[in-house]
Amino acid sequence: IIDMDTKTGHLLSNNIAGVNRILPHKHKYAWDLFLKSCANNWMPTEISMQNDINQWKNNEITESEKLLVKRCLGFFAGSESLVGNNLLLSAFRYITDAECRQYILRQAFEESLHNLTIVYVCDSLDLDIDEVFAAYQNIPSIKAKDDFLMQITDDISAQDFDPNSKEAKQALLRNFLTYWVICEGTFFFSGFAMLLALGRQNKLQGISDQIKYTLRDESSHIAFGTYLINTLIEQNPEIWTQEIQDEFVDHIKKAVDLEIAYAKDVLPTGILGLNADMFVDYMYYIGNRRLEGIGLDYRFPSDKNPFPWLGEVVDVQAMGNFFERRVREYQQSGSLEDDF
Ligand code: MN
Ligand code: FE
Repeated sequence: IIDMDTKTGHLLSNNIAGVNRILPHKHKYAWDLFLKSCANNWMPTEISMQNDINQWKNNEITESEKLLVKRCLGFFAGSESLVGNNLLLSAFRYITDAECRQYILRQAFEESLHNLTIVYVCDSLDLDIDEVFAAYQNIPSIKAKDDFLMQITDDISAQDFDPNSKEAKQALLRNFLTYWVICEGTFFFSGFAMLLALGRQNKLQGISDQIKYTLRDESSHIAFGTYLINTLIEQNPEIWTQEIQDEFVDHIKKAVDLEIAYAKDVLPTGILGLNADMFVDYMYYIGNRRLEGIGLDYRFPSDKNPFPWLGEVVDVQAMGNFFERRVREYQQSGSLEDDF
């Protein structure tokens, strides 16, 4: 039997034999991202929350800052789980390439760590869990983002969904764009900027550090999603119609508007040297990067990054200490035999 898929590297296929063939490499980009993610392993619970707890209880954190933290966690609580579920219940089923599947499994694990971050922060700061976990129902600017994600995606998880027609492949493309580019690539970013801005002022450093690692994970998820979208288009050029390109530009524009509305809601008075207007520029900047990533021509009217420091915080150098410390700790801990 000639297994064509192990040669062509088609992402989507009925030939299920291909799912086990990691070698020879056909999507080395996905494999390399998988290796890089494994090398960057981290655990939220390894980051101490003691200073955060003291600051939170000793009123060193203002009410506006507390609200910002709860709103950010509120959006993440709904969407991290949405992304993880979509990955395994929908995307994974149709992407039969072994290396891409390997990356998706890794990404799903990282989403579960991000869920753990939310739980760990709620536990540490003794937050009202209903306020955090019901935010996607109760806070209009958060609900609007989640509703938008649901509205623009078709249900591709149905048993009888056949991914082989042109329309079905466009539905997959829409799913990839919605979750990887809009949800992870756009909707997470104002929250990251706000929480990291707190950390820059030595406030809630534990949360801020966890967000640094989360942001690094998300950067890799976006890179993979962009690769997936471009590869699917390259393999099926007939699905990349003018109509679907216009639709995607429209979706990204609406997503940027929703994200700006969310930032205004979370930062009503402007704190931490941040104000909602900066997020207009920031979301335009992010939106332009996402459009660029998938080869769409539209550009938002401004292209300046008001938070140049954001790129630096995920810099590998800056994070080196954490990993050096951990490797030492692992090496100094008892031998593996002790566990068996
Ligand atoms: Mn995540
Ligand atoms: Fe992610």
